[in-house]
Amino acid sequence: MSKPSNLSLLGLDRNELSDLVSGAGQPGYRVSQIIDALYRQRAQDLDEVTTLPADLRLRLQQDGFSIGAPLVDKKFVSEDGTVRYLMTFADGESAETVWMPEGDGGEAGDGSEAGEAAESASPRAAGRSTICISSQVGCAVDCKFCLTALLGVKRNLTAGEIVGQVCAVLKDQRISPPADRINLVFMGMGEPFLNYDNFMKAVRLLVENVGLAERRMTVSTAGIVPRIQDFGREEIRPKLAISLNASNDLVRGQLMPINRKWNLERLISAARAFPLRNREYVTFEYVLLGDVNDDVSNAKEVAELLRGLRCKVNLIALNPGPGIDFVTPSPGRVLAFQDTLRAAGIPAYIRRPRGRDIYAACGQLKRTLESPSAQPSLHSISPAAPR
Ligand code: SF4
Repeated sequence: MSKPSNLSLLGLDRNELSDLVSGAGQPGYRVSQIIDALYRQRAQDLDEVTTLPADLRLRLQQDGFSIGAPLVDKKFVSEDGTVRYLMTFADGESAETVWMPEGDGGEAGDGSEAGEAAESASPRAAGRSTICISSQVGCAVDCKFCLTALLGVKRNLTAGEIVGQVCAVLKDQRISPPADRINLVFMGMGEPFLNYDNFMKAVRLLVENVGLAERRMTVSTAGIVPRIQDFGREEIRPKLAISLNASNDLVRGQLMPINRKWNLERLISAARAFPLRNREYVTFEYVLLGDVNDDVSNAKEVAELLRGLRCKVNLIALNPGPGIDFVTPSPGRVLAFQDTLRAAGIPAYIRRPRGRDIYAACGQLKRTLESPSAQPSLHSISPAAPR
């Protein structure tokens, strides 16, 4: 009788695979064959991996191993081309992943490498596309403008489940390897810095095995200060984005309870100390909530907070959702906020919402299965995602 298949090959690094292969008495080159099958062929079942001898496949299966790829349970396609995937993992839990073809608009012109690519690429070029992935099932951070927060946190995703989301989307979108021109944002469900080790292992696997470029990856944090410091010491790392969303501790504490643990002074100090590479900026995301944090006086406070920091600010007008008690600000207030930041010398960009009609935009990610009668909704998946 075979054992249940609950160990995932996706997510194991080269050393771990080497141990597995040598333990099975197989030559070392089998490791490269497994990596090729997992990350280039994007196989979903061990039986598909015919480069491996049948006895090794059987041995792995008997030891409880499977590929461990998430299943695409549901797929919602927006009229703007954005696709929101509901991914289900081996234990039945699920999270959401979003594909945004042809960039997100907001990247273009923002001075980043991705923005330059977005501006210069031809229409429908896969190189402009962005995948937004989840790092946890739900989220514990409890930001008051975010639908994911309503779920609470169920569990962390493993490195294999994080990488598996990317492989599943690339396979579904028929993107041939290497996917080195795809942008990746860790801005889906969950706070990546509260699942730090799995998140960082996934980053290394994405660079080494999937072929994604680290300079095209961005992670967004709500402000877990000790992990920002750890992150700055990583050899391989994405770019850093910080979800700011308020200009003073009073408002931020109300919108983001995490601010009571790490206030703005500690957060901005960590951002100032963050070791930036050539041409790198810290991105601050700011979700504008009508009559809460969107006044010109707030913009002036933000400019003061960020004075002298090598940064840019992405402004996101709230994406509405059921259960969220805030309103979208008027376009005039959004523009006035942007103008105030720019006048103070802070690069500020307004992000175009993506996939709003399928609840794939920022702050809208929440598991579809949670309320079958409701419209599909999720938390924040878009490069502009509020985290
Ligand atoms: S915005 Fe991000 S960090 Fe805040 S509750 Fe939502 S998923 Fe968590």
